[in-house]
Amino acid sequence: MAIAEGRLTTKLVDVVGDRTAKVLDTVFGYRTVSDLLHHYPRRYLVRGELSDIAELNEGDEVTVLAEIYSSSSRKLQGRKGSILEVIVTDGSAKMSLTFFNQAWREKELRVGRQGLFAGKVGVFNGKRQLAHPDYEMVPDGSDVDSAVADFAGKFLPVYPASSKLPSWKIAQCVKLAIDSLDEVPDFIPPHILEKFKYPSAQQALAQIHNPVDLDSAELSKARLTFDEAFLLQLLLLERRAELRALKTVARPVKSGGILETFDKSLPWKLTPGQVEVSREIESDLAADIPMHRLLQGEVGSGKTVVALRAMLAVVDSGGQAALLAPTEVLAAQHLRTIEKLLGPLAQGGMLGGVENATQITLLTGSQNAAARKEALALAASGQAGIVIGTHALLSESVVFSDLGLIVVDEQHRFGVEQRDALKAKAVNPPHLLVMTATPIPRTVAMTVFGDLDISTLRELPLGRQPITTHVVPTMEKPTFLDRAWERIREEVSQGHQAYIVAPRIAAESSEDADLDFLYGEQSPDIASVEELAPKLHGGALKGLRIAPLHGRLTTELKDATMQAFSTGEIDVLVSTTVIEVGVDVPNATVMVIMDADRFGVSQLHQLRGRVGRGTSPGLCLLVSGAPIETPARERLEAVSKTQDGFELSRIDLEQRREGDVLGATQSGARSHLRLLRVLRDEGLIEEARNVAAELLESDSSLKGYPLLKDELEMLKKEQTSTYIDKG
Ligand code: ADP
Ligand code: MG
Repeated sequence: MAIAEGRLTTKLVDVVGDRTAKVLDTVFGYRTVSDLLHHYPRRYLVRGELSDIAELNEGDEVTVLAEIYSSSSRKLQGRKGSILEVIVTDGSAKMSLTFFNQAWREKELRVGRQGLFAGKVGVFNGKRQLAHPDYEMVPDGSDVDSAVADFAGKFLPVYPASSKLPSWKIAQCVKLAIDSLDEVPDFIPPHILEKFKYPSAQQALAQIHNPVDLDSAELSKARLTFDEAFLLQLLLLERRAELRALKTVARPVKSGGILETFDKSLPWKLTPGQVEVSREIESDLAADIPMHRLLQGEVGSGKTVVALRAMLAVVDSGGQAALLAPTEVLAAQHLRTIEKLLGPLAQGGMLGGVENATQITLLTGSQNAAARKEALALAASGQAGIVIGTHALLSESVVFSDLGLIVVDEQHRFGVEQRDALKAKAVNPPHLLVMTATPIPRTVAMTVFGDLDISTLRELPLGRQPITTHVVPTMEKPTFLDRAWERIREEVSQGHQAYIVAPRIAAESSEDADLDFLYGEQSPDIASVEELAPKLHGGALKGLRIAPLHGRLTTELKDATMQAFSTGEIDVLVSTTVIEVGVDVPNATVMVIMDADRFGVSQLHQLRGRVGRGTSPGLCLLVSGAPIETPARERLEAVSKTQDGFELSRIDLEQRREGDVLGATQSGARSHLRLLRVLRDEGLIEEARNVAAELLESDSSLKGYPLLKDELEMLKKEQTSTYIDKG
């Protein structure tokens, strides 16, 4: 082995040896000392705070030292997957530990062995248990007293682990990595460390992995969390400054144009909220700095008409607007909605077109060559005032005559880089309006979306029906699922329609591997549209008209299916999340979401917003095999208990990393943005923002801080190289 230099950039091979380095790479994608040292402990086991099992109360966070009394694993009923139940005893009493789909742990958790087990005490069937506890086994062969004495006063780190790399093995590697370090350069300027009394980077890394006490662990964690917040705020502030420096064509509202005609033709009055937001947008458009505005408002709050008015203002100025939608279904639906709203105003150049009319065209990936050619020509000539499309709009062959405004629907599906690709198609920097139905608390939005101004629509224009939501727990109550199918039959027999949503298209697609951490490494078999639709057709929903819908169908088939569902020729749509946004069929009253724990909170809220849109109340059933008291199950309970979008987005945000919220996924290998949580760390983020602003004020190019500048460059690369793209 070569003598390793003691740097963060040193390859792990040189520190932990070939074999282990290979495992670290395959399991986590870690290659350097830095990668590994940013794999932080999830918690610490503390010897000093051992509890007796007999004295445990529900809800306590505990660590117990106990011996394994019995261990058994059994298959789940009605679905793949298994549950491992381990009974432990400490002499005072027994309790059970349960692991869902982690049969591999049986090898470690052998009868007679001792270990430290930590978690939150739950009660199930009257017995105390720890679901998915963290643990550390006393090494085989070492006598317990000395092992426990070894633990005494120590804080054992517990790492996110896997069967190939248990926590104790990671701890060993981390120790080697820390011992290998010479001096760690610190990219945070000394006066900032001083201001917050933070430890140096080197101290912080050593202490978070191997703290002398909990205070130093906390302080180290705070410092490392600050690093993330600070870098991110520098990035956002730089981006904002760049945007503010741009000049573009001002597009003030004109009288006597298409916008004015449209306003007169609207069958209803804009709500006061729509009027106010429209004013904000119009004043942005009238300035020669490009607009960067986020428009947030619950499903059904009427964002489309606000966006359309902005597009029409740009058409009046002689420019074009592009509307970018996350899916083909949604793009097609936008086209229909907007054509309907505009009526003859959408028939520019055609017979029946009226004065001021423009043309609208659609561009998607699966169009045939002729349709695509026509759409491209309309966009390039400027004849199409509004071009609606999916990612296909980003392709190089798409050219505009004068692109003045980009509207992005459902911001979370598009990364900064995609927005930039579209902006590059304009002669002058275009104005940008981003719409999202996932409301974000204002303070969070201000700090997270530092580069966007924000408008919010609060009221709903139409009387929406209440939606009742229940969890259907298939693990405890397998028969409840039959009741769910019965409810669908009842609704259909009353002339209504139903959605069934499944996480996967086909049994073998593994697109959602990122959620597998909830279960350990093998995920149970997740419901898929292609399996479920025929099964229900021949079974529980026999006799009903059922059709599948998902992203892999041809555009024609997708459109035809949606059309048939909206006209009531289909009773039950079995679908993936392609129906998540925008789909509007008022006659649909019930939605069953299979393996609902595979979806995020906001996503579930969006999904259920598809029912209760007509005159009858809606029902949403969240089917899940997630065991009681697991975070997955608690998320579902939260969704079933409230319909307040702001409240739910708080719950959602609490579980997300800042990188996710920004639309950037973090690949496992990179080490930024691991600790920061937008809500919990709101205060820290604001502090970081202030400090970042001061620093940029005094040295806008960070010339005096080369280490910081390098770190920031790395983060920028990371931000643009990965983004969510799940259309
Ligand atoms: P969002 O996109 O915010 O979910 P939409 O723009 O699709 O909501 O609006 C939901 C429904 O409400 C649409 O059918 C739309 O035509 C209608 N609508 C919008 N604004 C108003 C209004 N001011 N008065 C009555 N109906 C409205
Ligand atoms: Mg909409």
